[in-house]
Amino acid sequence: HAKLERDRISTYSPEYDVNTVERLQLLADLRSALDSQQLRVVYQPQVDLNSRRTVAVEALVRWDHPTRGTIAPDDFIPLAENSGLIFPVTHFVLDAALAQLARWREAGHQIRVAVNLSARHLSDVGLAQQIYEALARHQVPPSALVLEITETGILSDTVRADMVIRAVRGIGVEIAIDDYGTGNASLSYLKRLQIDELKVDRSFVSNIGSDHHDLIIVRSTIALALALDLRVVAEGIEDDATAEALAQLGGVIGQGYYLGSPASVDEISERLELERRS
Ligand code: C2E
Ligand code: CA
Ligand code: CA
Ligand code: CA
Repeated sequence: HAKLERDRISTYSPEYDVNTVERLQLLADLRSALDSQQLRVVYQPQVDLNSRRTVAVEALVRWDHPTRGTIAPDDFIPLAENSGLIFPVTHFVLDAALAQLARWREAGHQIRVAVNLSARHLSDVGLAQQIYEALARHQVPPSALVLEITETGILSDTVRADMVIRAVRGIGVEIAIDDYGTGNASLSYLKRLQIDELKVDRSFVSNIGSDHHDLIIVRSTIALALALDLRVVAEGIEDDATAEALAQLGGVIGQGYYLGSPASVDEISERLELERRS
């Protein structure tokens, strides 16, 4: 008995506990963040690589924590997903993004906005209705909204996810597969699902200037996706050589620090105004 007790104690890890307490604190903080307007949305340009014009922006959430400073989504979205808080978080981002898109379109900028969905939304049969209402509230045409989902999101509960995606596409909203190439979905599967856009993951795109294998993978993936009539966004473009190499494929949209980092509404508005005048 004494030995058992000792073994049990020896597996006890104080670090784990500290972590849990910290996570619980962060979770409580996130709950109040939603009510006290600590979340905000920044927008990253998606640029037609041939014309170099902004054709869309991706909405990315930020959390201005009162004592910890700005917290990146990778550090709280997983927590939100596990706790169910992802639903109000997504609602906030969707609403903010559509309200802003309405203002940009009002000002004559015919861009799209992309919003990230978590896997959990794909088992929510009320999703299409919620999105329909948000679009109506802000008078934004459904085709101006792109929802980004990851392969893992789709493959977790295939039947239900198929149904939810079909319902969303049924109202005219577009679906993009995010981080493409990091999961297991094949292009033929995605074609059958009827998606609109493929976002090639930055882990393949970033190094195409120096890694010949990456260049071959990215080039053939893009060729296949374009042949399947999908829109293609290449993520993680960090230099001119990469942008140029992808521009040569024709009809590719780029996203990355080189083309524009995530920015405030004012910065994006200024950018759109400059583009209009050129
Ligand atoms: P993601 O959807 O793949 O978004 C792109 C991320 O890559 C963003 O990080 C962006 O700042 C970063 N990025 C953009 N260009 C470059 C580049 O050239 N090089 C590199 N190294 N990185 C680049 P961010 O904003 O920190 O977001 C991280 C992830 O958090 C997102 O990855 C997305 O999965 C998630 N996320 C962000 N906002 C939301 C949201 O509102 N809802 C949900 N469910 N997830 C979100
Ligand atoms: Ca995304
Ligand atoms: Ca991505
Ligand atoms: Ca389409």
